[in-house]
This record gives sequence, structure tokens and C-alpha cells, in this order.
Amino acid sequence: MIRFEQVSKRYRDGTVAVNDLTFQVAEGELVTLVGPSGCGKTTTMKMVNRLIEPSEGRIFLDGTDIATIDPVDLRRQMGYVIQQVGLLPHKTVLENTATVPRLLGWKRAASRTRAAELLELVGLDPAVHGPRYPDQLSGGQRQRVSVARALAADPPVLLMDEPFGAVDPLVREHLQNEFLNLQETVRKTILFVTHDIEEAVRLGDRIAVYGHGRIEQFDAPARVLDSP
Ligand code: ADP
Ligand code: ADP
Repeated sequence: MIRFEQVSKRYRDGTVAVNDLTFQVAEGELVTLVGPSGCGKTTTMKMVNRLIEPSEGRIFLDGTDIATIDPVDLRRQMGYVIQQVGLLPHKTVLENTATVPRLLGWKRAASRTRAAELLELVGLDPAVHGPRYPDQLSGGQRQRVSVARALAADPPVLLMDEPFGAVDPLVREHLQNEFLNLQETVRKTILFVTHDIEEAVRLGDRIAVYGHGRIEQFDAPARVLDSP
């Protein structure tokens, strides 16, 4: 589904953020990218939806080189969830969630119905939480809204960059469990960045262990834990 072939990224200032990445992610697979800050995880993600371009190598989506896909079309196939949620503060939770279907050309009423379905899917009550504004939700609830928004266009791919990084540990565990249940239902192809090895192990079908711009290990959780 997603394939990296000898991908490197050197930023303009000379920083080599990732070096010679080759790996693939199967359809419906959840791969966690784990490693310390600054080892190239976010750079990897940004190359998948063409926020930045590789300096070398190629990335394929379903066999097509993404360099040949219009970035707007590409991003339509990928939900992106980041730590800083980026909800619109002056729109309600329901309106925030409905913005994506609206952008896709859905009618207002259909968009709101879809938004309500999505809120339910991520464990929020549309009647209770829908009319609230983002600052009237807890951090964990806001994070759920951003997952709902990422799912709104029903993209085959989800890119999640430390989505639960800003919530406290108890809520975090709860969100992780919910997210696993959600993935059972929706079966997206997911790249999920975390610096927390426990989170990587709990969520990942496979784990890419990063160190200094390289993937040092790419394997099932049990095998990553077993290795020295
Ligand atoms: P590119 O070479 O891919 O165009 P740029 O060097 O222009 O990338 O930087 C892209 C963005 O990343 C800019 O907004 C810049 O401010 C920001 N940026 C620059 N250096 C860093 C850094 N060390 N870590 C994170 N972001 C950075
Ligand atoms: P991670 O997500 O693992 O924390 P990043 O991919 O954000 O790592 O960064 C990898 C390396 O690239 C770091 O050394 C970072 O400072 C550098 N970097 C990230 N963005 C930019 C940029 N736009 N310009 C220059 N260097 C950058």
C-alpha cells in the first residue's frame, strides 16, 4: 500500500533528517514509528502526503509514485492527525467535524448527519458534545474530534503524529484502547508516530524503530521487545 524506496531527506540547511529508508506498509496495517525526538519520524510522515519532498528515493501509494499524484488529490486519500489539534475555535464540535464533508461538496444537512455519525464512532455523543465549542471539551475529547475529522472523508490512509501526546497518561490509555477498537472497525492503513515504546507496542501490528534518521528495526512488537 505504502512503500518507501531508498528515501532520504536533506533539509536546506544541510540536516539529513532521514537516510535511505526502505520499508512497506500493507493495506490495513498499523505501523508505529518510534524513537527519540529528532530522529526523523515527522519528516517521514510529511513526505507521505507531500508536505515535503524527498531529496532522494521514491514513495509509492498502491504502486503509484506519489510524486506523480497531485498533492490535493493525495491528501484527500490521507487523514492527518497531529498533537496540536487545530480545531476551529469559533465553530462547534459538530461544525468542525462537518467541515471536511462540506469541503468535499456534500450538502449542509448531509454533512451534519455525517459529522454526527463520526462523533459517535469516536465515542462522543453528538447531542451532548456536538453543540459545544472546542474549548468546552477536555484534551482527550478534543483529540477524538480530530480523529473524527481525519476519518470524515473516509480516506484509506491515516497519518497520526503523536496524536495522544498531549493528554494525561490515564486518558491516553483509554484513547489507545478506543483507537484499537476503532481500527478493528475501519481497518485503515496507518502510520502512527510516537516516542513512547509502550504505545508503539500496544498499537502497532509492526514497529519501525528509528535512530538517527534510519530505521534500525522493523518488526512485530513481540520481536522488537525480545531483541537486545
Ligand atoms: P524544505 O527544504 O523542505 O523546503 P525548509 O528548510 O524550507 O524545508 O523548512 C520548512 C519549514 O520547517 C520552515 O517553516 C522552517 O521554519 C521549519 N524548520 C526549519 N528548521 C527546522 C527544524 N530544525 N526543526 C523543525 N522545523 C524547522
Ligand atoms: P522527529 O519527528 O523524530 O522528532 P523530525 O523529522 O522532526 O524528527 O526531525 C529530524 C531532524 O531534522 C531533526 O534534526 C530536526 O531538527 C531536523 N529538521 C526537521 N525539520 C527541519 C527543517 N524544516 N529544516 C531543517 N531541519 C529540520
